[in-house]
Amino acid sequence: MRPFQYIRPKNVKEAVDMVSLEENARFIAGGTNLVDLMKRNIETPDKLVDITHLPLKKIEYHSGTLRIGALALNSDVAEHAIVNSRFPLLAKAIDAGASGQLRNMATVGGNLLQRTRCAYFYDTAFPCNKRQLETGCAAVGGINRMHAIFGLEKNDLEKSCIAVHPSDMCVALAALDAIIITFGPKGERKIPIQDFHRLPGNRPDLDSILEKGELILAVELKSNTFQQHTHYLKIRDRAAYAFAIVSAAVALDVQQDQIRAARVALGGVAHKPWRLFDVEKALAGKPISQNTFRNAAAVSVADAKTFEHNAFKIKLLPNVILEALMNAAGLEPSYD
Ligand code: SF4
Repeated sequence: MRPFQYIRPKNVKEAVDMVSLEENARFIAGGTNLVDLMKRNIETPDKLVDITHLPLKKIEYHSGTLRIGALALNSDVAEHAIVNSRFPLLAKAIDAGASGQLRNMATVGGNLLQRTRCAYFYDTAFPCNKRQLETGCAAVGGINRMHAIFGLEKNDLEKSCIAVHPSDMCVALAALDAIIITFGPKGERKIPIQDFHRLPGNRPDLDSILEKGELILAVELKSNTFQQHTHYLKIRDRAAYAFAIVSAAVALDVQQDQIRAARVALGGVAHKPWRLFDVEKALAGKPISQNTFRNAAAVSVADAKTFEHNAFKIKLLPNVILEALMNAAGLEPSYD
């Protein structure tokens, strides 16, 4: 690890000034991803601006809006009474991520900004456009079992990236239409989560639309009608502390066995949490049944593009969505 300067700013404004004005300064909070990257010389900041003491930890619910401070710990969010009663999908997704120890350290802001777990990104012996632009992507012709199947259509793969976003929490936030509140050199802004993470294009080094020095203050969720019927299903190689091969966050608004509205978002399939609006449309207005869910899930892979080792996701994905929907509706899935 390279030497770096460590600083604790007095307030949010000072923290933002420090990172926006210094070429190679970075915020640090839980450090559960950044420190790993620094140990491997993938991130090499000259200055770390420690924000852990800033007043951004509160979880509050007022007038139908839940506001989660960016420094709230993942474990505190998952255990919070209001989160469990009004936004259970979020609690389920956080509980599926990482380990208990990591959830006790990792913050909501850090979770939003965690970087891909593509093995080639972490191994500097291999070319990686995300680590260093225009050097190539070892995953395209390498072991790409965990990699993306969506959001690749316009990519020039020589210069782009097929890695997936690793967060479970963000998949639930995508399904729940979260708003990300930030403060940067140009002031405060509210960013819908759909716009917050980027597809790689020819700038795979950038994971989000945040500008230099822009700090996440909070995440907001509006009250919704999905509390009663939600499920987060994560398919992974082992039962704990593994990233998703595919995951699905689903939520149904049901009245008298009819689906009034649905939300479906996926993890492990794209450079950002992937919302399936076509599947949601296929569910709306339909009766709750395995047939409804199977037909809607079949729409999910229409735009998929696969590589040598991840074609199995085409078959896996509709079954994951089907099972998640069946669980959300309280039905027992049966398979042919
Ligand atoms: Fe790098 Fe992305 Fe290719 Fe992985 S998939 S090697 S992160 S460019």
